[in-house]
Amino acid sequence: MPELPEVETIRRTLAPHLEGRTITGTEVMTPASLRGLSPEEFRSQVIGRAIEGVHRRGKYLLFNLGERLFMVVHLRMTGRLVLDGPADRHTRVSFRLDSGTSLQYVDVRRLGGIYLLKMVVRGEEVSLPSGRPRPGRAVPEGLLNLGPEPLSPSFSLDYLREGCHSRRVRIKALLLDQSFVAGIGNIYADEALFRARIRPDRRACDLQVTEVEALFEAVRAVLREAIEKRGTTFSDYVDGRGRAGGFREELAVYGRYGEACRRCGGELARAKVGGRTSTYCPRCQV
Ligand SMILES: [Zn+2]
Repeated sequence: MPELPEVETIRRTLAPHLEGRTITGTEVMTPASLRGLSPEEFRSQVIGRAIEGVHRRGKYLLFNLGERLFMVVHLRMTGRLVLDGPADRHTRVSFRLDSGTSLQYVDVRRLGGIYLLKMVVRGEEVSLPSGRPRPGRAVPEGLLNLGPEPLSPSFSLDYLREGCHSRRVRIKALLLDQSFVAGIGNIYADEALFRARIRPDRRACDLQVTEVEALFEAVRAVLREAIEKRGTTFSDYVDGRGRAGGFREELAVYGRYGEACRRCGGELARAKVGGRTSTYCPRCQV
């Protein structure tokens, strides 16, 4: 599943080709990939609109279509957005732009989806209006209650300290909780905990002040480095041009169970924490 660095990489690939361009046509091959609206309604709402900006919030891509209307794409497991790609039998929705560029939403397992939502823009931040969404309009549940962006000032050391202090959940589960912090999944939670030398099954409230500080730095550093390397590819993730991410070679623990720890040489272990498999070093992480 793409996490923050992968979705951010897709956003950066797409933005220069889409921003300022007008949608001149769209074809819906799989109506079920549109959430809460019919293909007819979708076409009538998006055709003729210009894409004013391509944003990201957590693991969601947000296309600003003007007048506060946003097309929200949630890629989930196998969703991809492909610029000028060849026809694909798993294409669910395709778009044509006035520049001649095409954009395909491809989704093998059809777990992802496209939504049209009215949203609020405050500077760089895009969010759903507070209060209940309009009845009858599907809204991705995760977007309703999304925590701060980990690379923004709203995710501060104080915020993390306060969040850990008041919660008895395992620290790994807290990092994965999208309502606490947006965009972190299994890969980057494991990597950040390794860097901070914290076992994934420690209780958040038991972390020492210095450990919370180390974790704060580790979360931000690992996400920044992963964005720089254009994300991590294990199976499905590619950017908007079909290119794999380069962070896989940099992974210290994720996907390396049974291999040697890069820091101490010991064997990496794994455990289920909060229902997710976690890989960690039993010597380096305490
Ligand atoms: Zn180690």
